[in-house]
Amino acid sequence: MSTHPHSPAPGRLARPCTHLAAIRPVEPDADSRRRCLAAGQTSTDLWLCLSCGWVSGSLSSRAQPNDEHYAETDHPVAARLAGPRAPRWCFIDQRYV
Ligand SMILES: [Zn+2]
Ligand SMILES: [Zn+2]
Repeated sequence: MSTHPHSPAPGRLARPCTHLAAIRPVEPDADSRRRCLAAGQTSTDLWLCLSCGWVSGSLSSRAQPNDEHYAETDHPVAARLAGPRAPRWCFIDQRYV
């Protein structure tokens, strides 16, 4: 066998996200979702923590989730709850994954 699944790819800036293993099958948490909507976020601003189901709002740019939940829990990946392509955001890699 000559495969090296974890060997680095030299010259590539974008390394694969290794944090998707933290993803669990989760349901959106109703209380945190309600809190975001009460704070003025719209349903398309909401992000779902893929480790525990916590719902967070977006940063003011709306392109990324706010990082309060990540700062408290180290849960690394969130997905947009609604939207045409529903991207996932990795807080550790600071990019869509
Ligand atoms: Zn990552
Ligand atoms: Zn979480």
